[in-house]
Amino acid sequence: MLTFCFLCALVPASACATARGETRAAADDPARPGTTVVDPRAPIRCDSCDAWNQPHAPFQIFANTYYVGVEGLTALLITSPEGHVLIDGGLPQSAARVEESLRALGFRLADVKLHLLTHEHYDHAGGLAALQAVSHAPVAAGEPAALALQRGVPLADDPQYASGKLHPFAPVAQVRAVADGEVLRVGPLAITAHRTPGHTPGGTSWTWRSCEGARCLDLVFADSLNPISENGFRFTDAPGRVETFAAAIAKLAALPCDVLVTGHVGASALADKVAAGGRGDALVNPRACMELAAALQKKLDERVAKERASAPALRRTAPSAR
Ligand SMILES: [Zn+2]
Repeated sequence: MLTFCFLCALVPASACATARGETRAAADDPARPGTTVVDPRAPIRCDSCDAWNQPHAPFQIFANTYYVGVEGLTALLITSPEGHVLIDGGLPQSAARVEESLRALGFRLADVKLHLLTHEHYDHAGGLAALQAVSHAPVAAGEPAALALQRGVPLADDPQYASGKLHPFAPVAQVRAVADGEVLRVGPLAITAHRTPGHTPGGTSWTWRSCEGARCLDLVFADSLNPISENGFRFTDAPGRVETFAAAIAKLAALPCDVLVTGHVGASALADKVAAGGRGDALVNPRACMELAAALQKKLDERVAKERASAPALRRTAPSAR
């Protein structure tokens, strides 16, 4: 008999208020109202979408943790006899493939009791509405991401906001905002939220412990911490922004991390290891989070140096609705 996770009892009242859109007004952009996407399975078209969405055979990462995503976009299933947790949803057109992967492993999407999100972009959040239509489970996301999920559009202070390349997606119901360090539970599962803003304001990484017999490993689903933006955006323009980004990277480096999984599969080389026949210990690298963090900090340093070497860009005008 499955038990339902009463997630609302696990988040502070202030976070619930944020999830309802009662705060974070500064990030709201009246020029861009909520999405008009009504069909949660309507495909999003982008340059990389077809390549990302190629089917990928599901596989066990360790113990109760399984890869159920598509070729280029991770979706991760953590199972328990009392219900499962699913992290990220890929694109809208990924949802059917994620569901098929669960079925191939002998699990049911209807038994997912909690969805989690790394960050509020269409290639990770776009499939959530279609998945939730089957699971009817709540979605937990880093505090600022909750508003984006409810509206189906990115936040106005997203570094890529004005690029015009952040597609809207179907809004998500039952959104719960989580704070740094919160532990979310489904039956015996306990998954910790680590707020890692930078790539987006709501970026969040997730950690949990999986055990097979007496052997337990610390697993990490690290959010994208890639300092990319639309052309006119400068990370150095807002006080504290670079420091916040660097702190998130430092947090990633310090996580308990035996197995690293990333939202874009290539960042953790997990798929390469699996394609090469890697299983079990081949996927374990206790230095993986530190190594990824070092590479990301280098990217951030290069980005900051480039911005400081160039004249400040003209202030952006307010982005127009689309
Ligand atoms: Zn992104």
